[in-house]
Order: sequence, then structure tokens, then C-alpha cells
Amino acid sequence: MNDIMKFDNELSIEKSRPSKRGLHFNCPACQTNIPASHLRKNEPKLPELSEFDAVRHFTRLSKYNFSVDTHFYPLGSCTMKYNPRINEEVSALEGFTSLHPMAMDENAQGTLEIIYDAQERLCRLCGMDDATLWPVAGAHGEYTGILLAKKYFSVRGEERDEIIVPDSAHGTNPATASMAGFKTVNLQSNAQGLLDLENLRKSLNPKTAVIMMTVPNTLGIFEKNIKAICDMAHQNGTLVYMDGANLNALIGIIKPGDFGIDMMHLNLHKTFSTPHGGGGPGAGGILVKKILSPYLPKPKVEKKDGKYFLSDDIPHSIGRIKAHFGNTQVLLRAYAYLLKHGPEEFAQIAENAILNANYVKASLEKIFPPYSSQYCMHECVLTPPEELLKNGIRTLDIAKRLLDYGFHAPTIYFPLIVHEAIMIEPTETESKETLDAFIAAMKKIKEEADKDPEILKNAPHTMPVKRLDEVLAARQPNIKW
Ligand SMILES: *Cc1c(COP(=O)(O)O)cnc(C)c1O
Repeated sequence: MNDIMKFDNELSIEKSRPSKRGLHFNCPACQTNIPASHLRKNEPKLPELSEFDAVRHFTRLSKYNFSVDTHFYPLGSCTMKYNPRINEEVSALEGFTSLHPMAMDENAQGTLEIIYDAQERLCRLCGMDDATLWPVAGAHGEYTGILLAKKYFSVRGEERDEIIVPDSAHGTNPATASMAGFKTVNLQSNAQGLLDLENLRKSLNPKTAVIMMTVPNTLGIFEKNIKAICDMAHQNGTLVYMDGANLNALIGIIKPGDFGIDMMHLNLHKTFSTPHGGGGPGAGGILVKKILSPYLPKPKVEKKDGKYFLSDDIPHSIGRIKAHFGNTQVLLRAYAYLLKHGPEEFAQIAENAILNANYVKASLEKIFPPYSSQYCMHECVLTPPEELLKNGIRTLDIAKRLLDYGFHAPTIYFPLIVHEAIMIEPTETESKETLDAFIAAMKKIKEEADKDPEILKNAPHTMPVKRLDEVLAARQPNIKW
């Protein structure tokens, strides 16, 4: 943002001037052929703007934003990586975009084939047996997975109503467990940020349906006892759910199916490169082991004699979870990404994601102590040093100051178990130059905090809006019109 660009928060309706028009329909037929009964009585309450006014208005608004395409965006737990443009081209191909959602199978062969093949490839990549790509968000995938577990136990006649969720799990995990009607049993992590096996042993009981593991967990640490955890759960008849939204750290390196995961979701919009954030469309497909196949949602994409079709023939299906084909455009982008990278390249992606996170961590650990001293995976969790906290500097101040230096703030105050957490996920697509610039900005901010804490407390200084009252904004949004 340069200084010339003053913040203009006028709404388009406020810019409106009588009789300004974008498009003129001068053809007489447009006006006369519409029966009077279909014509509106009052003018619609729309802004009257020239086309140029409208273009400037929206282009200006878009520039007030931070985005992956304009700024380094190290938002932990979100995998804000570069989204290759070829994905956009693929998902915009007319054959896909003009497909009617109620199209007969024979007219939807291309889309069905892609969904089928994407499922197969994802299963292979993760060592799982079966899949559904209908869920439209990570949290939706979790919910679908837990409904499968519920059905699985009900068909077996087992009454299990507890789900174990370690405190290092993503917040959507306990929320999912409660939404699906289970009791959540919280497990405290040990000092290394890992699950304590003894604690787990004590918590497992005949009522435990599922244990939900975020791998790597929200501290950016790999659960090194994951195989033992799965074995212990299985001995108790408990299923293991893996929140695989952080697959960017593992893809191509390990297969969750190999260490005993029964079901998992993927955030295709994160790991498999769809622009996301701000509540945009996602895809949280789930992969399962054979034992859970009979419960998958309807319809299932099947293949017979070289033809693809949607089948409702799933004996104990939990039913439909989404109309039509899920968020097909996200699936198409994910598919383009899957085809572009073979298994070896995926391992390289994960390795570079891990390398970048450890590079940031190692470069900053002297001034911003990490939560854990061990190597992190694709993201690291840092904290402000004690002396800054004593001077009244908070993580929020550091995040706001980063905006002045042209960086989107990292995730802050998450994971909840880390006091004043700063969670940085650089992703594999950032260059060393960008990481060095970010590291330099963090160091500069630390110096500023030592010399003149007010700079931080009043940051950002260069943004069009300063500190918002976030609670008020959420409770009483000022939606002017
Ligand atoms: C992002 C994320 C989720 C939730 O995914 P949505 O698509 O936002 O619903 C769940 N778990 C983890 C670990 C995540 O990073």
C-alpha cells in the first residue's frame, strides 16, 4: 500500500449519482417485449454508477487486502501456498463448468472419471482403501468421518459414546465430536507436546468410539508414537481418526494407512492448492479403510466396463451429505495438482515445507523462543520473550506491526495450549529471499519493542484501518446498507 492510496470506505451506494449508468439497454425490443405484469413497479435500490466508477471501486477495495498473490502469508494451520494458475484453467474448462448438476451419468463421464481417479490416487498416496470427496470443508470431512464411526458401531450393536481428543488437536475436532452427539474426553499433552501413552491407556474404555488425532498436531510436531497409539486404540475396539489437514508435512513421505489410521480427511484446498480463506469453497474429502466402506455417503462413484456411474447401492450408507458433486471445481484443481506431481515430487514438497519452517524457527529462536526445542514439521510455534511480555507487548502487537512491513500476520493465540502463541507456516512455495525478509522484519520488530514499545502498541501505522474492536465488529457489525 503506498501513501497516495488513501483509504476510501465509501460504499458503492454512497458513490451513486442519479442517472449514471454502466450498461444502457437502448434496444426498443428490450423494453417493449416484457409484459407489464413482469415489470417492477419501483426502481431497484441499486447504486447508479458508470462502469468505470464500478471498476475503480472494486479494484481499489481489492488492493486494501493481503493475499497469497501479493504478500507472504505465513498463517499457521492454513497452508497458504502458491496456487498454480494451471489449476484455474483446468477448473474453468467449459465442459466442466457447464455440466448440469442433475446431468445423467452418461453425460457426466469426464467429471465422474476425474473424481474416481482422484479418489484412487489419494488413497494410494495415503495407504487407504476407499474414499468420498463430497465433503466441502475440512470440518465437514471430520463430521462425515465421525458419522461413519457412529454408524459402524450402531450396526455392530456397540454402544460407544466417547471420543478422545488430545489438547493438541485442531479446534474443529472436539467441535465435530460434540456435533455428532459424542462426549469429548480431553487428553493433556506432555511437555514435548506429544500425547502421553499412559494417559491414553487410562482414558480408553469400552465406551471409547474414536480417538481423533491431528497429525502433525497443532504444535507442528509429529506424533512419533502414532503406531503405538493406533495399536492401543484398536485393542480397545476403538477407531482412529486422523485430521489430515496438515498433510503438507507428510505427503509422499508416509502413508497414514500404514500406521493404523482407520479414516482421515484431507483439506484439498490446502495441501492440493486451491485458493482458500475467508470462507471460500473447500473440499475435505475423506479416505477410509475397508471396514468403513459400507457406511460411506451416497452416491458413490463407481466404474464398470469402462463407464463411470453414481451408485446408491451402499448397504449401510450414512446417506447424502452434499447435493450433487461436492465442490467440483476444487476437486478439479486438486486433480490438476495431483497429475502435475508424482509421488517423489510430493515428498519433495513436504521436505521443503519442513525445511522452510525449520529455517524460520532456527533463525528466530534466539529472540522468539519456540514452544518446543525439537525439529518442527511444516510449521513452528514461537512465543514473545519474557522481557517483551513484561513491557506490556503482546503477540497481537507483533502481528499488527508485521502488516506495516508488508507481511500477513501469522496465526496468533493458537494453539490454545501455548501462551501468546505465534504460529508460522511458511509452506514450500516461498523462496529463501522471502523468508529472509520476513526473518529480518521479525528481528527489527524485536529491536523496536526493546527501544520504543509504543511503536508496536499503536501498530499498524500504514494500514487503512488500524486496530478494530474485533468483539464489537463480530457482535454489532456495521453493515451500513
Ligand atoms: C484447516 C484445518 C481444519 C479445518 O478445515 P476447514 O476446511 O477450515 O473446515 C481442520 N483441522 C486442521 C488441522 C486444519 O488445519
